Amino acid sequence: MAADKLKVAMYWGGACGGCDVALLDIHEMILDVVAVADLLFWPCAMDFKYTDVEKMPDQHLDVTFFSGAIRNSENEHVAQLLRRKSKVMVAFGACAHMGGIPGLANFYTRDEVFQAAYLDSPSTPNPDRRLPQRETKVPEGTLQLPEIFDTVRTLAQAVPVDFYLPGCPPNPKQIGLVIQAAATGALPPRGAVVGASDKAMCEECPRKKKELKFKEFKRRHLVHPDPEQCFMEQGIICIGAATRAGCGWRCIGSNMPCRGCYGPLPHATDQGAKILSAIASHIDSEDPAEIDRILDSIPDPAGYFYRFGLPMSLLHCKQRRQAP
Ligand code: SF4
Ligand code: SF4
Repeated sequence: MAADKLKVAMYWGGACGGCDVALLDIHEMILDVVAVADLLFWPCAMDFKYTDVEKMPDQHLDVTFFSGAIRNSENEHVAQLLRRKSKVMVAFGACAHMGGIPGLANFYTRDEVFQAAYLDSPSTPNPDRRLPQRETKVPEGTLQLPEIFDTVRTLAQAVPVDFYLPGCPPNPKQIGLVIQAAATGALPPRGAVVGASDKAMCEECPRKKKELKFKEFKRRHLVHPDPEQCFMEQGIICIGAATRAGCGWRCIGSNMPCRGCYGPLPHATDQGAKILSAIASHIDSEDPAEIDRILDSIPDPAGYFYRFGLPMSLLHCKQRRQAP
């Protein structure tokens, strides 16, 4: 390990692993990365231990890329540990940035999630109706599991974050550029959302737009959308009006609407509320009954509007009933 090379860590919290794959997707750029950086901790790829990190002096790591939300006590513990050991902490990908897909669990309590996953799911045989336990005694000793928290949090809701690399997953080109920027000391200002535009996706989207009027909403997989016309004008919900541009229209170019993974625009407090207000202002009716019928044709509105950002939103989670 060269003394002058960048010391980098990569870790996943509550995530699917796609962000780690995105790091590999930088292809030949990996040679540039290897030239400037040593990976000191990446448990997904190599056999590192937490004790390897615990033994490092504080701020020993130059950059940590933390992907995934804070779902359990292990995620939280490692986020705190890596924060202490790192000069720069990057929230890597939509789950660390906004809570991501795991954050949709915040529409339910932990008990409801357990009920669905371990007791009601037809694909999970569980005749003894066992739920995960923090500790289980076996002949060899006591096995321990992390505590699943009642709500999913973003990385910044658990530890201070220096900047954000958005996307589900982040654009591989942006990853390589961030590592190179870190190597030259040209990192963006604290709090920046890197590689994303300050403009809305709609402003950069190449699809033709004429007039937006909603008479009904359709699910993408039930229609054959015109690949050149705006999705919204075809009655297919697209979150582009409430999402930062910068991904290179990855979904839109594949004839799929934007789901909002690059997150809210600067100064927007709530991505879901912003798209809801954009939609509401283009409903093509004055008749309350018809307005209800049009709105009822939106499948799973909460899941659409908060696909990636529920934990970071004003809602954050399902409202808990107060004890009487
Ligand atoms: S709503 Fe979607 S398809 Fe329409 S202009 Fe915006 S980003 Fe493009
Ligand atoms: S089009 Fe939207 S959902 Fe798709 S990658 Fe870009 S920001 Fe994410």
